[in-house]
Amino acid sequence: MREVPFRQISLAPYRQVLGDERVARLRDDAGRVGRLLDGRTIWNINSTAAGGGVAELLHVLGPLARATGLDVRWLVVDGDPEFYAIAKRLVSRLYGIAGDGGPLGPAELRHYQRATDANAARLAELIGPGDVVIVHDAQPAGLIEQARERGATVVWRCHIGSDQQNEHTRDGGAFVSRFVQAADATVFSTPGHVPEWAPRPQIIAPSIDPCGPKNMAISAEDAVSILSAVGILDGDRELPVTVPVPIGPDVEVRRPALVLRDGPPPPPDLPMVVQVSRWDRLKDMGGVLDAFVASGVDGYLSLAGADLGGVVDDPEAKELYEECVRAWKALPPEHRRRSQLLCLPMDDLRENAVVVNALQQHATVVVQKSLAEGFGLTATEAMWKSRPLLASAVGGLRDQVVHGETGLLLADPWDIGTAASDIRRLFTDRALARRLGDRARAWVHERYLPDRQLLDWAQVIENVAT
Ligand code: UDP
Repeated sequence: MREVPFRQISLAPYRQVLGDERVARLRDDAGRVGRLLDGRTIWNINSTAAGGGVAELLHVLGPLARATGLDVRWLVVDGDPEFYAIAKRLVSRLYGIAGDGGPLGPAELRHYQRATDANAARLAELIGPGDVVIVHDAQPAGLIEQARERGATVVWRCHIGSDQQNEHTRDGGAFVSRFVQAADATVFSTPGHVPEWAPRPQIIAPSIDPCGPKNMAISAEDAVSILSAVGILDGDRELPVTVPVPIGPDVEVRRPALVLRDGPPPPPDLPMVVQVSRWDRLKDMGGVLDAFVASGVDGYLSLAGADLGGVVDDPEAKELYEECVRAWKALPPEHRRRSQLLCLPMDDLRENAVVVNALQQHATVVVQKSLAEGFGLTATEAMWKSRPLLASAVGGLRDQVVHGETGLLLADPWDIGTAASDIRRLFTDRALARRLGDRARAWVHERYLPDRQLLDWAQVIENVAT
């Protein structure tokens, strides 16, 4: 187990985006929680410091909560490859799918508990009575009981789930619920994901950081320069590019993206469809490729994921990427020349974030064609950039996208024909695209910025802390 340090930030840039009133409210509520905790710590525990939505959230909320005066810290559990494989299987089951199809039986439970015990020893040295411990997702759920034994108040924060309960969710639930039962409360991203075994469930929607490198404003010209420099668009390829960020130091973009493409990079003025996701079956990158081809639009498709070494808790990423490569190679040459697969370097997260930001900002249409989704931060990120979005009607995407108002929802995420015609619609009906994009931004401003999430957390902590 290791600690991930938080950056130090100031609240001043947030004032620009949120306004004085929202910042004052945040300070008040954080102050109340601080007095209640009286010097004790709020710990977050998850399974990776990089890649995926949970790491993304913690990198934002931690520094912000610290800037309001709270003592918030972050621990990442260790495990061997077998532990990550079991954990990934468990996560798949909670999403309602078989994953690698392997068992979650007594042998897996023993291995999971051994890994948990190794982490628990370190945890016991760090936490103390009265601390609040927020355990994120299934990988570290085994630590809930140990944290309780140390006198901490424990909340299980589940970021994932399935819209329908089935044999897989029951399998995953049977495995993890024995640990979660010990929690003082549970928190989910969307009401549809609360299983019946969750103790004292509450809902908190995630949020994005409007001042960080992924969601700060960048001009269309700067987005083009960044994407050209890393080899995603045609143009001047000189690296590094220095990009100023409202919080923290400038970001130096130094590493080119790993690009699989046939032919030259697309010109900046060719409209682009973008999906940014981990290489994961549930994100259905292959389905986006099919839908783009079927749409017949005069544009270009970029499918962007993390580089394959970047996300340590995701053993299936390589397999999924290779599957996508095979699907791409099987395309007729004229379609292959209109699409590229991108692996974005993850060794510097701020650099990675700037490139993702530029890609979302440059997109004509953003797609999130997930087959299941916890919340879907990539959708929030695109909406904040006023992009017209097509998203599957699954998980938290259903809360975020009001069909025809803040984006388009794909009722059946497997429906390639409708996905294709929706992409075409967003490409050709520019008035609709602009209207959806504008409303999407206002919607995110109101609901999915981090002050709102911290206020929700303040309330949960006030309810459970003793
Ligand atoms: N992400 C990233 N770099 C990548 C791919 C994804 O930073 O190369 C980020 C993405 O921008 C988003 C997060 O990873 O912030 C994914 O969160 P989401 O809720 O969409 O899905 P999850 O990965 O948690 O299932």
